[in-house]
Amino acid sequence: MHELSIAHSIVAMVSESAERMPSAQIHEVRLRVGALAGVTTGALLFCYDIATQDTQLAGSKLVVKDLAVIIFCPQCRQERELPGVQSFRCPVCDTPSGDIRQGRELEIESVVVDEYAST
Ligand SMILES: [Zn+2]
Repeated sequence: MHELSIAHSIVAMVSESAERMPSAQIHEVRLRVGALAGVTTGALLFCYDIATQDTQLAGSKLVVKDLAVIIFCPQCRQERELPGVQSFRCPVCDTPSGDIRQGRELEIESVVVDEYAST
């Protein structure tokens, strides 16, 4: 499953950066996922629980921040947020654009460790 391999790479990345603080409890991992990243949030959350078992991330929470697709409209000369991923046309003037400025992200935004956690 696609999401499971993503979950495993998240665990690998976070574990690596947490190596310097072996006693730290990972509280939360915040992920930025673009609408074009091809990730199903529900499936990823499910796989995250499996992938974190018996790791330093066990019991931590995965928070997924969904990012809408933003294209640059050559007609309006502005970045426009698309309501969906079905068509890549400016929602204001209907000009097609392939100039994607946001929506392909799949990256860890931050990791909340209990030592620093305030929530
Ligand atoms: Zn436009």
